[in-house]
Parts: sequence; C-alpha cells; structure tokens
Amino acid sequence: MELREKLEILADAAKYDASCASSGTEKRDSREGGLGSTEGMGICHAYAPDGRCISLLKVLLTNACVFDCAYCINRASSNVRRARFSVREIVELTLDFYRRNYIEGLFLSSGIIRSPDYTMEQLVRVARELRETHGFKGYIHLKTIPDADPALLAEAGRHADRLSINVELPQPASLKALAPEKDAGQIRVAMAGLRTRIDEAKEARAEASVTRVALAGGRRAAAPRFAPAGQSTQMIVGADASTDATILDVSSNLYGSYRLKRVYFSAYSPIPDAAAALPPAAPPLVREHRLYQADWLLRFYGFTAPEVMAGGEGGMLDLEVDPKLAWALKHRAAFPVDVNRADREMLLRVPGLGAKTVDRIIAARRVRSFRMADLARLRVSLRKVAPFITALDHHPRGGLLDRADLRTLVLPRDGLAERNAILPAGLLARPVQLPLFAHV
Ligand code: SF4
Repeated sequence: MELREKLEILADAAKYDASCASSGTEKRDSREGGLGSTEGMGICHAYAPDGRCISLLKVLLTNACVFDCAYCINRASSNVRRARFSVREIVELTLDFYRRNYIEGLFLSSGIIRSPDYTMEQLVRVARELRETHGFKGYIHLKTIPDADPALLAEAGRHADRLSINVELPQPASLKALAPEKDAGQIRVAMAGLRTRIDEAKEARAEASVTRVALAGGRRAAAPRFAPAGQSTQMIVGADASTDATILDVSSNLYGSYRLKRVYFSAYSPIPDAAAALPPAAPPLVREHRLYQADWLLRFYGFTAPEVMAGGEGGMLDLEVDPKLAWALKHRAAFPVDVNRADREMLLRVPGLGAKTVDRIIAARRVRSFRMADLARLRVSLRKVAPFITALDHHPRGGLLDRADLRTLVLPRDGLAERNAILPAGLLARPVQLPLFAHV
C-alpha cells in the first residue's frame, strides 16, 4: 500500500482521539544540535472547526486491533480498511513534515497489534529513533497501553513529552460491558505509576538544579526526564448513560488522584454495525462543549463539581447557557457583587468575568474605583455582567435580579429591548448600521 494511502487511513482513524493538545511541556530547542523545537518560530498551529488542536502529526501506527471495544471504529470486528505503518515510515514522515513546517510534533497512538507489550514496544521504538537517532527535539505525545510492561512505560516517558492513557468510559461497569478486554483497575494502576515517575523526575530535576547553583560553574548534574508535559486522558461522552455529574465527578477525581494535565471529552460518534447497547445518535456537540467549560471552572475558577452541577438539572448541565451563568441564575442571592470590593473568589463567579480580567480588576482597583466604562475598556461584555455586579456608577436596576425572565434577558441574543432592560441608563444600546466589512 502506498504511504499516502496509509496516511489517509491512519490519520483519519486517529481523529477520534481528542487528547492531542501540545501545551505545557518544557522549553527545548536545537541550538546545541539536533532538530526541532517545542516553542517559538516555525511551529504551526491549526485548529479543527470544533476547536481541537491539530498541529501535531496525529496518526495511528495501525488501525488493526485485536481488541473489540464496541464503541470503536477500529475494533477487531469492524469492517474498515486496515493499514499499518512501519516504525521507519512514521519516523520519516514526522521528520519530513517537521522540516516542511507542517507540524510541531507527533501524536502517536495505535490499535493493539499482537499484545499490549508488542504494541507499546513499537510506539517506544518510534520515539526512541526520533530522539536518539535523529536528535528530534520537537513535541512527542505517546498514547500508552495500560497493560504493557512498566519498563516499556518507563522508557516511553523518557522520550515523550506527554503520555496519555484513556479511561474511555466514565464508569467501570460501562467499560466492562463495552470494552471487556480493558480493565478499569489496570488503567488506574498505570496512571498511578506514571504519576509517581513524573513526580520523581520533577523532584530529581529540582534537586539537580539546586546542586547546579551550589556548584556554580561546576558541571550540571544529570537529571532523569520523564514526560515533562505530564499525562492526560480522554473520556467518551454519550456512549453510555453516564450523566454530566458522573463525568465531572470522575474527572475531578482523576485530576486529584493522578495530577492529570487534562481530561479530554470526546462526543461519541455512532459507528457502522454498532452494538445494540450503543445509542443510535451522537450526543449534541454542545454537551461536549459545556463539559469543557465546566472542566475550566473546576480547574481555574474554584468551583467544585457539585457546585457546577447545581446550575443544571437532573445531573445534566444546562445546554442553553454556559455553566457559570447557569450557576449564577440559580444563586441570585449571591449577587450583585461589588467589583470594587469583592474578593477574587467571588469575582470569579460573576458571569462574563474571566480569570485574567479578574486579576486586572484587582490590580487596577488598588489605585482607582471601577466604573462600567472601565470594564468596557477591559472588553468585558456589559450586557452579561450588568445584572450581577455593582460599580461606582452602576447598580442593577430595581428588581432585575429577581425578574423571572432574567434568563431570557441574558441569553446570548441580540435583541435591543433585552439589552436595554439590562444595561445601565447611560449605556443604553442604540440601533446601529453594521459596517460592511467588519466581522460581526
Ligand atoms: S483497544 Fe483501542 S483501538 Fe482497539 S478496539 Fe479498543 S479502543 Fe479501539
């Protein structure tokens, strides 16, 4: 089979894996020899329409798999065209694409070829050849097979920037039903093993750095390197009956227990000849989007999973409004919040105020009090924040927070009457002629 044909099949087969972002690794370049860089000029970024990062060469070593996970297009019983790259082919493709500036690195996964060990050994060989034979210093993300020999996982971590093990489904019972060859317990054991190695490597590097300073001018002590961009995982959303509450609960637990860098969510795509246990239709994509927003609230806004879910109904997030707005609409007694006095924690709960904006407000209000126009200068959507804050020249109009139709008023629509019901009198919106060539 032609290389191009293989690439078509194996890049397409890899698109179902969402965990491909390349953030968070160490700075590394090739000024002292080698090839590639994890930062700076020459790294191209591209995003698929759904927002996923595709700046890596994202492929499978093979889509032929001896496992038969019901939700997977590549399962053993699936009737798809199969292809397999050799280790050499993947290495050459990566180097070739890198030199052409198409990619910033490699995301490599695989179906299970003969056994977990054999597959993991092949993945590790690709990374080893790139690093040791070709001095490749670009980004490498290796998908990790949890049942593989720990010695192989250890070597994978020495070469890769990031490792990931997919938990696949939120609940062990679903995994058992839909992917009987996988073992939820073994997945957790492997994640714990990676966490330990990542922590040890970080400590060793920190110690080496202290030693280097103490020896000032002496030789740099060698420190082991292990997946400096950490580990991540992916959960499929909508293949089983798990609610958003369960998914967020599991992801909080994964962040806490294994210090994952990211939990990615991938909306289930119906596949040909699917098992009867699987839903016939994909969940709405907006569900995946709301889960990402909720995940953001957990990681950067001080929300707990139950707090986020308090904005939804029946264990599901509100699909119509973002989770922070949904929470605020159900906790109106906590508002309005005074932008000139409130603490950071409370400002972070105001719909329309992002973490960076909150930090700017806190820094700026040391020297002056905020008016609505000051917020507008920070590009804050006044329409979104107005019902929930007070400023030097603003207090939500009488009874606004108690209005039964507040939800309708703050929904992201363009109705002039709705905007005017929310905005302070001095900032009432007027109909305007839209410019012909602006992005609206
Ligand atoms: S092991 Fe991976 S590639 Fe193989 S069937 Fe399961 S999910 Fe698909």
